[in-house]
Amino acid sequence: TYVLFGLTLLTPSVFASPDASADKQKHDYQSDVARLRKIVINSLYSHKDVFLRELVSNANDALEKLRLTALTEKEVLGGAENLNITIKAVKEEDGPGRIIITDTGIGMTPEELTKNLGTLAKSGTTEFLQKAETSADTAGAGNLIGAFGLGFYSSFLVADHVYVSSVAAKSLKNPEPTQYVFSSSADESSFEVYPDPRGNTLGRGTEITLVLKDDALEYLETLRLTDLINKHSSFSSSFPIYLFTQR
Ligand code: ADP
Ligand code: MG
Repeated sequence: TYVLFGLTLLTPSVFASPDASADKQKHDYQSDVARLRKIVINSLYSHKDVFLRELVSNANDALEKLRLTALTEKEVLGGAENLNITIKAVKEEDGPGRIIITDTGIGMTPEELTKNLGTLAKSGTTEFLQKAETSADTAGAGNLIGAFGLGFYSSFLVADHVYVSSVAAKSLKNPEPTQYVFSSSADESSFEVYPDPRGNTLGRGTEITLVLKDDALEYLETLRLTDLINKHSSFSSSFPIYLFTQR
């Protein structure tokens, strides 16, 4: 795969967070998710870097799924032409720093947003939770990351708030794709799912907006991001990764 770097002036207003909606549906996290999120946020502090690897690997999985599905269902390719991953670092003068990771993969329906991000279906999760909760030191918990992978919840290592906007690929089961948002704060035991107030801006795929914690602003630096992508993601992704940072 290849990584292309672009330095551009990103206009913040174009990247407004998908926040306001009249029609928010509130959900409680499944109890295992609440436990896992707590562990991630509290004890894996020295392993913050893993968030990018996990999110790029999810984007890559989603693109791979789309490519496979398209072999038998051509219509899933509608909505967005290219298969790629985009990473944008957005600095605003009077707003929080944000990292926005977008893929044009298979996407998620509102039901999938709720199920995939609000519950833990993975085998071995309970074992992970027990080990992580009883391991006293961060090094122990850190080693567990390697063994189990933290996945999506590693977002909360660097973000106070996470928005996941998604449009599932068009198919017989999903003839009229709509863009929905999964929204969650690091310190809440619930999340919300609602129609994206910005409309269908993606066409197809998923956009993850990380509203960075004050102590994670280093990830907005071009060099830091470049280094991380090169180290962990450039060879494991089979799709192009485009990086945009601000001057
Ligand atoms: P894993 O990747 O091991 O399944 P994660 O916590 O990383 O666990 O992700 C949970 C689930 O959320 C994935 O299995 C997938 O169904 C869904 N998901 C996460 N990110 C994306 C994405 N970018 N596009 C589509 N689905 C996603
Ligand atoms: Mg994953």
